[in-house]
Amino acid sequence: MDELHYQIDLLTAMNQKLATKELMYRTICETSSAAFLFFDLKKNSIETIGCWSDFFDFSVKNRIDLDRIIELYEEGYELELQDLFFLEKQKKTHSVNDFKRKNSQIWTEIDCYVGYEGEQPIYKILRFKNVTKIKIQNEELKYMAYYDPMTGLYNRNYFFQLATGFLNKAKENNDRVSILFIDIDNFRQINDGLGILVGDELVQEFGQFLKSFEDSNTIISHFTSDIYCMAIYDPRGNRSVAAIHEQIKERCQKPFLLTDNVEITVSVSIGVAEYPEASNELLKLVNFAEIVMFKAKKNGKNRIQYFDDNILTDFLKNVDLENQLKSAIYRNSFEVLYQPQFDVKSRKLRGVEALVRMRDEEGKLVSPASFIPIAEKNGSIFTIGFWIMNESIHTFSMLHKKYQMDFILSLNISALQFEKPDFVSILMECLKKYEVSPELIELELTESVMIKDLNQMKDKMQMLREYGVKISLDDFGTGYSSLSYLKGLPIDTLKIDKSFVDTVPNDPISKTIMESIMNLTKQLDFVTIAEGVETEEQFVYLNSIQCDNIQGYLMGKPMTASDLENVIIHCI
Ligand code: C2E
Ligand code: CA
Ligand code: CA
Repeated sequence: MDELHYQIDLLTAMNQKLATKELMYRTICETSSAAFLFFDLKKNSIETIGCWSDFFDFSVKNRIDLDRIIELYEEGYELELQDLFFLEKQKKTHSVNDFKRKNSQIWTEIDCYVGYEGEQPIYKILRFKNVTKIKIQNEELKYMAYYDPMTGLYNRNYFFQLATGFLNKAKENNDRVSILFIDIDNFRQINDGLGILVGDELVQEFGQFLKSFEDSNTIISHFTSDIYCMAIYDPRGNRSVAAIHEQIKERCQKPFLLTDNVEITVSVSIGVAEYPEASNELLKLVNFAEIVMFKAKKNGKNRIQYFDDNILTDFLKNVDLENQLKSAIYRNSFEVLYQPQFDVKSRKLRGVEALVRMRDEEGKLVSPASFIPIAEKNGSIFTIGFWIMNESIHTFSMLHKKYQMDFILSLNISALQFEKPDFVSILMECLKKYEVSPELIELELTESVMIKDLNQMKDKMQMLREYGVKISLDDFGTGYSSLSYLKGLPIDTLKIDKSFVDTVPNDPISKTIMESIMNLTKQLDFVTIAEGVETEEQFVYLNSIQCDNIQGYLMGKPMTASDLENVIIHCI
């Protein structure tokens, strides 16, 4: 009897324990935000647990009801859902996936667990969980990772990912891939002149226009600012680069309409590098397309430039030169040579032109014609220009004091240097430091100075002349300069370019032009210097038309200060 009581107590205790456990599991299910379907496969019963009504407005009693669930999800999921709902058929214990509801943004994560006794499935649980929030966050993250927020086009990273796909496919199939590097012309002026909001809108609008080319063989992306990159798979088809270029040009004939009726007409410069000719590496193709795009800009913008080995070689040479220039600045490796100028009539030394040289790491002299343009581009012209000014005025001062002879020092001044607001004060300070009279200094300016703010430049020239400094117009005959334009300029000297001197005295047209220049300069009271005089014949001719001074290899090449001393001694 005792034994029986004991057994009953034990059973009651166990039942209570089970009831508590069941209550616990039930509470967990009911309070979670998920819905559950519990299948007792032995009894063939189905029970719904948890937040069922948050997901479905019907309960599940049989297989037909499960089909009703499947119908609620987007088309294409049917087979996958069937497999998941009847996982026991595949003898699996667990599977999970996300499914999107029809005509809604709702995503459900559905899990299926199957419990077995031996090989026999005895129960199955389907769990439904709303994962819409996570999905949306993931989509946003994906968008941020793949798209450029400003234009909605692919960003640079994703472009590289997709274009790598094109390249791999082209390598397999012996096809071609073209990379187009597209840059809006004069974008900086638009941005500076009309404001960055207009600039941004233009970038968006132009991006939208480019997007119209997008298809399975064409990728459009926005890299940064006004730069877009396009990859075209197999351009032999109707999507050829030339055809796209034509369409872009055509669109650019009409203005882009922006907010507040702002209308902007733009042009673009395009660089193209193609696989397999240019390279078989994507990074290089993009790089080369960019390099040749710069060439298109240099050649006048609004054009397309295809990859060409020579452009790349020039570019690499420039990069090398730029490095050499940086190193020369660091090592202070510049020298100034002086080329004498002579008065034609008296044959006396009229002056000297200071001409800079750079010594590269191997000790070779590099011509200013190659490194000055780079110095102007990267801004080091200010450092170099100041050094030349100081160095040559110092040398000139020593020679002038030593030989007590008056002659002029001509300094080449880059337009950028001349434009600087403190240019005049720096020059005057330097002259004071070395006790050189401004009357002995001549500044050689090219027409590029005049292209800037003409009136401001004229004022500066006039101011320098009031101090006594002479102003010379260098390279006359190579630029836009017409004779009538000369009349309004505050200059003292006209330097006739070598290319002009080269054509006389054999070419009758050049002779006529040269003679009319001489007549006018006499009327305007300009002093004339012909540069690059190499032959006796040229000298005789220049003398005959009353050119005042000459400079050139015939009389002396650019030389060191000590060689110049010999010339001075000769002239005393
Ligand atoms: P540029 O001012 O027109 O200088 C005249 C150039 O012609 C010099 O070249 C000179 O060496 C060269 N030359 C002179 N006579 C003859 C000749 O009879 N035959 C030939 N074939 N050439 C002759 P360089 O020294 O190579 O200078 C090239 C250019 O670099 C200069 O042209 C000037 O624009 C620029 N440059 C030189 N020094 C400076 C400088 O200190 N500052 C700036 N900003 N530019 C400079
Ligand atoms: Ca010069
Ligand atoms: Ca010149």
